[in-house]
Amino acid sequence: MLEVKNLVKCYSTKGGVTVKALDNVSVKFPETGMVFLLGRSGSGKSTLLNVSGGLDKPDSGEIIVKGRSSKDFSASDFDSYRNTYVGFVFQEYNILNEFTVEQNIALALQLQSKPNDKKAVNDLLEKVDLKGLGKRKPNTLSGGQKQRVAIARALIKNPEIIMADEPTGALDSNTGKQVLDTLKKLSETKLVVVVSHDREFAEQYGDRIIELKDGQILSDVSKEYSSPKQLNENVQIVSEDTISIKNAEDITEADVKNIVSMLKKNKGEAIITAGKREMPDVKRACKINDNGHKEYFADTKEVNLKEYDGKKTKFIKSRLPASHAFKMGASGLKTKPIRLIFTILLSVIAFVLFGVVSTFMLYDANYSVSEALKEANYPSVTLSKNYTVKNQNIRVDNETGEEKIDYEYEHDYVTRFGVQELKDKNANGVNKYAGIYNFTNDRWSSQAQSINFMLETGTSSVTPNVDATKADYYPVTSVYGFTDCGADYMTNNGFRLIAGIYPANKTEIAIPEYVANLFIETEGSGVEEISQIIGKKLRFSNVQAIPSSEAFTIVGVYNVGEIPAKYNQLKESTSTQLSTTERKDLKASLQDFITGSFNNLIYVSEDFYVQYKNNIPSNNSGVNINSSYTRGLNIQDYEITEDYQEWWGSSVYTEKTVQDYSKYFKFYNLNG
Ligand code: ADP
Ligand code: MG
Repeated sequence: MLEVKNLVKCYSTKGGVTVKALDNVSVKFPETGMVFLLGRSGSGKSTLLNVSGGLDKPDSGEIIVKGRSSKDFSASDFDSYRNTYVGFVFQEYNILNEFTVEQNIALALQLQSKPNDKKAVNDLLEKVDLKGLGKRKPNTLSGGQKQRVAIARALIKNPEIIMADEPTGALDSNTGKQVLDTLKKLSETKLVVVVSHDREFAEQYGDRIIELKDGQILSDVSKEYSSPKQLNENVQIVSEDTISIKNAEDITEADVKNIVSMLKKNKGEAIITAGKREMPDVKRACKINDNGHKEYFADTKEVNLKEYDGKKTKFIKSRLPASHAFKMGASGLKTKPIRLIFTILLSVIAFVLFGVVSTFMLYDANYSVSEALKEANYPSVTLSKNYTVKNQNIRVDNETGEEKIDYEYEHDYVTRFGVQELKDKNANGVNKYAGIYNFTNDRWSSQAQSINFMLETGTSSVTPNVDATKADYYPVTSVYGFTDCGADYMTNNGFRLIAGIYPANKTEIAIPEYVANLFIETEGSGVEEISQIIGKKLRFSNVQAIPSSEAFTIVGVYNVGEIPAKYNQLKESTSTQLSTTERKDLKASLQDFITGSFNNLIYVSEDFYVQYKNNIPSNNSGVNINSSYTRGLNIQDYEITEDYQEWWGSSVYTEKTVQDYSKYFKFYNLNG
């Protein structure tokens, strides 16, 4: 049902260089089965997936869905295509942590205007091997389980195609396998396209592997099976030099002769084993599947597409009913009464401040709020900048074809502050703000994710894993983002370099003392004191823009302010001073302190930012600025165009213009 023809997609970077992400790519996809798009980072896999799934438009070429060419698509057809035919699964799950697994799926059902019946939800859970986990919250699930929730959600619209971009990218290989097993099962009745850079997975699971390089197809191979020759009931010749025996006990003298004569055809080494434990490994190495057939890959032969009459192919418009939009907002408040109270309180405070200060025509909201917080002894504050998107949902009368506005609503998204804004905030030679960028993305909550990292130990690598006795004192094992604020900023704010230097190039980073301590407390890290971490390498595992294979040399460690002494009690596993609840509260408070402080950042150079800012795959909805602190593009006077669309619906445009944002500022250091 899906074919892409002569796709070309170019990106021009700020330096004026044009990258051909897709260079005349044509693929006929089969009706069912698992197709892997394999290739190194930057080879064009995601672009091909996004264009094929209608998330992104090609510069030229066409996609043909059930006989209908994208050349005849209207803008809303694109929308409808990806809404009705394609289910997407991404590396970062994109599930809502506030809701249970069931609720996450029910919510998606509602978004599709489908009845929310328990049975439908349970059926979906069973399909992805998550039966019985419906009542759990996502943060109690493993990565592999979360990813399968995301798959269940993708299945709601009963898509004929599932597209998954590095679905196992954030998982270890065992949990990755569970996810692929689930996808494999689904590929019996659906087309499943998986982007991966893992050849082993691709060969194990793929029915077909399309390898990309520099935007072109390097090879296109399909799995085939040699049929074994049955020598007698017990003995099979799998291939020229492999024999398999059903039951070793039943071997006859004649069989032995046959085996010996086969062996003798080969010079050199041979291995014979009948060990039960070795068997699965041997089968995998020899690529023998459960039916005893040998698998191999050969050039893909002509794919016979089913005949479709393009004229009959209709796309269904999907929409988000207003009542549900309201419910989504309201249920958030219900589960977060405290947040609601705070929102009201802060609103009141903000209004009062506004009233007072605006009288003098000197109103600067940031200044006022930060001054107020300073009075209240807060060490730092997070600033974010929002823009509003207006959504109109249009209902089409199926009979008359008439379009009418169903309902409208507005939505806030986070965007970045601009370079000039940073300069303004830091006027008068005082460095107060540091620009933070995060490079991860969560489309569902429009929020960045925390960044995970690991330290290379020489032979392998370790993630922070603090001994249970001290774990309460280290409640945070990830960071919020990167800043290239520079050595002067650090000094001006009283942050002390306790080892090494500030990073000077794109492969160097500095870390806060807290992160260094995480590794000192991690067994097997090879780091026992701060100075030993200098020169060691760190890798980031879930940052879309930075391949996890890229290692960064730690060249400096900063003390960014002391951790208040009251938390020292958490250094011991048990303490007579604290009750269980007190301990829990103290730990939560320490967690807030760490995540709100400069201990939660990685310090980098301007070069680092320049290196990765353009490397971020186009946002999955093809929108540049949705949750856009993830995109490092230095866009000046960027306008949201009419193309802006909420990814799930047929919503249309926005009115506002957001200017000059290239960085996202998080902290306002009040000590400065
Ligand atoms: P892969 O998924 O194989 O890692 P991509 O399809 O994401 O590769 O990218 C292919 C090429 O296109 C890369 O060189 C990448 O830097 C570039 N590219 C992708 N998206 C964008 C974008 N939105 N802006 C600029 N360049 C991009
Ligand atoms: Mg990619």
